[in-house]
Amino acid sequence: MKVPFLDLKASYQELKEKLDAAYHRVMESGRYILGEEVEAFERELAAYCEAKHCIGVGNGLDALHLITCGYDIGLGDEVIVPSNTYIATWLAVSYAGATPVPVEPDVRTFNINPDLIEAAITPKTRAIMPVHLYGHAADMDPINVIAKRHGLKVIEDAAQAHGACYKGRRTGSLGDSAGFSFYPGKNLGAFGDGGAVVTNDGELADKVRALRNYGSRVKYENEAKGFNSRLDEMQAAFLRVKLKFLDEWNDRRRAFAIQYSDQLSDLDLGLPFVPDWAEPVWHLYVIRSRHRDALKAHLEQCGISTVIHYPIPPHRQPCYTEYGERRLRVTEILASEVLSLPISPAMEDADVESVVDAIRMFAGTTNKQF
Ligand SMILES: *Cc1c(COP(=O)(O)O)cnc(C)c1O
Repeated sequence: MKVPFLDLKASYQELKEKLDAAYHRVMESGRYILGEEVEAFERELAAYCEAKHCIGVGNGLDALHLITCGYDIGLGDEVIVPSNTYIATWLAVSYAGATPVPVEPDVRTFNINPDLIEAAITPKTRAIMPVHLYGHAADMDPINVIAKRHGLKVIEDAAQAHGACYKGRRTGSLGDSAGFSFYPGKNLGAFGDGGAVVTNDGELADKVRALRNYGSRVKYENEAKGFNSRLDEMQAAFLRVKLKFLDEWNDRRRAFAIQYSDQLSDLDLGLPFVPDWAEPVWHLYVIRSRHRDALKAHLEQCGISTVIHYPIPPHRQPCYTEYGERRLRVTEILASEVLSLPISPAMEDADVESVVDAIRMFAGTTNKQF
């Protein structure tokens, strides 16, 4: 049985009538940029995140970049970022003119290790940008304590964690501000690009609202050198339909994750670790194996698609040569061992069974340790 990594068409098939109705509503409205759909979605996502403000923007990278600019963080400033993340986290900081300062992950959670943050703070540090990687909330309490002590902003990169909880509270309102992505493959995905800034800080919300629209509050009056980065009406209308299903879809992901963890627990594999304060939304189900590449090839042969998130950490990328030969050991080991198994709301129990069977077959035939 073939198991695709992700079937993006599945959410359209599941909600076809509602999405088609949203499409017709927007087409008939004659309003395609910054209209009622975006305003309504902003209200609905803010409420979902238990936050006061939401601003729809062009994509997740822009959300993080506009927050950084909104805090006037730029040239000469430093922002602490996880070394173990998707490169967009770093690019948002670089794009603002500031310098990303990497901090290694906790090897159990893959998220930024709060114990290592203070040693990375300098007089130039302005913010900490934790990432809720793979849908698991970062350990926010110690991060917020450190930030308060040093007068830093905490910017959540929540691009992989729509609906994830930390000690019962939703991501998006765990720091000073948060950036979301609605890239189609995310837990809440659009049918194109999209993103949002979520915050309780009214001043930042006002700034980002202007920055996304040419730095303008009043038409043709530009108080800041802004950008054009707006969530469009069509994507907002689609996202309003899908937001109502987010919790149900996250529950389905959770059930598959539990199934994987139960059925793989006796193997010598690194399985995801869930601290007792976390309620992850399983954007990805990531295992570790020292024979990762052989395992991936074996699964491919069995018709099971897997992906590596991420094979090259940001500090080893050709675009970040300024980090030179700097070694970040934990991050580099993870990059060589992680493997993401298929997980999505469109899967069925039988798909999980197939993946588990194929992994067990690898263990049997190679007689190898993972
Ligand atoms: C997807 C993602 C982003 C960027 O979102 P885009 O909408 O693709 O720009 C940022 N950070 C993380 C961790 C992501 O996974």
